[in-house]
Order: sequence, then C-alpha cells, then structure tokens
Amino acid sequence: MIQRILVTGGAGFLGSHLCERLVEQGHDVICLDNFFTSQKSNVVHLLSRPNFELIRHDVTLPIHLEVDQIYNLACPAAPGHYQYNPIKTIKTSVMGSINVLGMAKRCGAKVLQASTSEVYGDPEVHPQTEDYRGSVNPIGIRACYDEGKRVAETIFMDYHRANKVDIRIVRIFNTYGPRMHPYDGRVVSNFIRQSLAGDDLTIFGDGSQTRSFCYRDDLIDAIIGMMNNEEGFIGPVNIGNPDEFTIRELAEKVIDLCGKNNQLVTRPLPSDDPTRRRPDISLAKEKLGWQPKVPLADGLKHTIDWFKSIDLSDYRPPTP
Ligand code: NAD
Ligand code: UDP
Repeated sequence: MIQRILVTGGAGFLGSHLCERLVEQGHDVICLDNFFTSQKSNVVHLLSRPNFELIRHDVTLPIHLEVDQIYNLACPAAPGHYQYNPIKTIKTSVMGSINVLGMAKRCGAKVLQASTSEVYGDPEVHPQTEDYRGSVNPIGIRACYDEGKRVAETIFMDYHRANKVDIRIVRIFNTYGPRMHPYDGRVVSNFIRQSLAGDDLTIFGDGSQTRSFCYRDDLIDAIIGMMNNEEGFIGPVNIGNPDEFTIRELAEKVIDLCGKNNQLVTRPLPSDDPTRRRPDISLAKEKLGWQPKVPLADGLKHTIDWFKSIDLSDYRPPTP
C-alpha cells in the first residue's frame, strides 16, 4: 500500500538513498533536511518526481505534517561533523526525537530511529549483542553523539510504553558508499580521497583498531525491512556487516583497489576512539531474515568509482 513517508535527514548520505528507494516503490516521500552535512545535489534527481517533496527545516523545531511512516535520520554522523557543534548535535538527537515522536503520536504514524553502534561506546563485549549496555564516556568528546543517541532510544521506548507509539530502533554500524560526504573525515572517505590524490593515508593510532563496514544498499534493505516487519518487532536491532577489519587492513585494501602506491602515516588516536567494533547480527537474521550481501571489496569499488566521478570543489565543510 502506498504510504506517506517522512525521512528526516533525507538529503544526507543514507537518507538520500532511502528517499530514492521509497520514491521508486511509489510512496509519497517528504525529505526534510537543514543541509548541515549534506547538499541539495544528493536529491536533485528526485525533485522532478511527483511523489517527492523537499523541505528545508531543522528537526529541533516542531513541524506539522500528516504522514504514515517516519524515518528519523537527521543527525550529523561523522566525528568531525558531530563535534563541530556538540550542543547542536545533542539537541538534534533529543529534541528531534521528541518532535518526530510527537508527530507520530498525533498522526498514528510508525517511526523508526536511526540509532548507532556508538551506544556501545568502547565495548568490553565482542562482538556486540543488543543486550550489552555499553561503555560510553559521558563527559568525553564523543558523548554529544553517543549519549544523544542513547537518550533518543530512551525517549523512543518511553513514547512506546506511555503513548503506544509504534516505534522501531536500528543500531547502525559503520556504513559507507557513494554520496558519503567526501570531507566528512570518516575513515573510508579519507582513505579513498587520499589514495586517489596520491597523498599519504592517515592512520590514527597504530591502526590495529577494528571496524566492520556495511555497504549502503544492504543497510537500506535492512531499515526498510525493519520498518515494515509484520511481527511488530521494535528492536533495538544491530544492522551492520560482521566482517571485521583493522584500519591498517582497510588502508591496504583501498590502496590496492585504487591501483596506487600511497604511503601510510600515523597520527595521534583521538580520545575515546573505540578499539574494536563488530555487530552480532543474529537478531536481524532471525527477526528480519536479513544479512548483508555486499563484500567490502565490491562496495569499495563502487565507492571509489563514485569518488572518481565527483568534483570535490562542489563539497564544502559543514557550517553552523
Ligand atoms: P549524513 O551526515 O550524511 O546525514 C545526516 C543528515 O541529517 C544530513 O543531511 C544533515 O544535513 C541532516 N541534519 C543534521 N542535523 C539536522 C537537523 N538539526 N535538522 C534537519 N536535518 C539535519 O550522515 P549519514 O551517514 O547519512 O547518517 C544518517 C543517520 O544514520 C544519522 O542519524 C546517523 O547517526 C545514523 N548512523 C549512520 C552511520 C553510518 O555509518 N553512516 C552509523 C550509525 C548511525
Ligand atoms: N581513522 C583513521 N584515519 C582517518 C580517519 C579515521 O585511522 O583518516 C580511524 C579512526 O580513528 C577510527 C576508525 O578509523 O578508529 C573509524 O573512524 P570513523 O571516523 O570512520 O568512524 P567511527 O570512529 O565513528 O567508527
């Protein structure tokens, strides 16, 4: 059935792909974004579609819309972006959640929160299962994001228990692909940009820390599956690719796929940088019948091709 669907943060990396997929499925899609970490070019190809609408708005402020489903993705996601204005970051998670939940309550809409593996902080449990409560430094430089997302989960659960709002929570692990902001400072975008330019690749710390990288198409499949699961499974559920790599392995892979000969240089490890991260996706497999299909090398190839196709001067660093 055709739904009226709001995607907050819909012009961003994941949001724009989600909007694209939902428009293709024939839904009436409203993309809401303040363009803090994105630009119109991500969704410009959708503007001519009759079932797509773009609204410039800040999710920390209320808005009245009539919708059936809400995907709440609005929030800067890369460390450099979310640390740029940390108070705004936590406001976006907390007030943004209250605003979309209020809308969902008023409209009887279903609402999905894009949470994060960062709720586990620097995890003592490996791989991370959903029942692990995490190890977050509440006063560190990542807290504006991690704690904001943790509070958002709390608010979602309380609206669900107190007001019977139909919610979904997905905990997204590192996801990459075309349309990542090339200057977001995330490891995949930095390494590809550096390698293609013939620069040294910057390894923070000794490069032995690990991450597990999920390709964006797999992620979009999972969150649409989560929103529409028939059993009313609300999560939280881990969504990510359990193939785990050290940052040094990632650097070597990127250099190889770019066909370059870059050197690696080390830089200080930022504080509170998690030492390892890998999702246990048993719950997603059981409840959603989902598991990722795209191996890292294939996803990186698509991403590298996209980086080759863009003009970097079209992208600017975020402004307040
Ligand atoms: P992104 O920065 O590309 O997208 C976020 C979008 O939200 C941007 O378009 C930005 O302009 C918008 N935005 C930020 N603050 C806003 C505000 N106050 N009002 C309205 N719009 C606002 O990042 P992404 O990687 O696409 O992430 C999307 C969501 O998924 C985020 O909530 C993020 O926390 C979550 N997530 C992403 C990853 C990942 O690896 N990509 C991992 C975990 C969680
Ligand atoms: N990282 C790195 N070089 C870079 C950018 C990041 O070594 O140029 C490291 C970073 O310290 C972290 C990992 O790569 O250990 C992933 O960083 P990213 O910012 O992509 O995501 P997050 O830390 O939020 O998982």
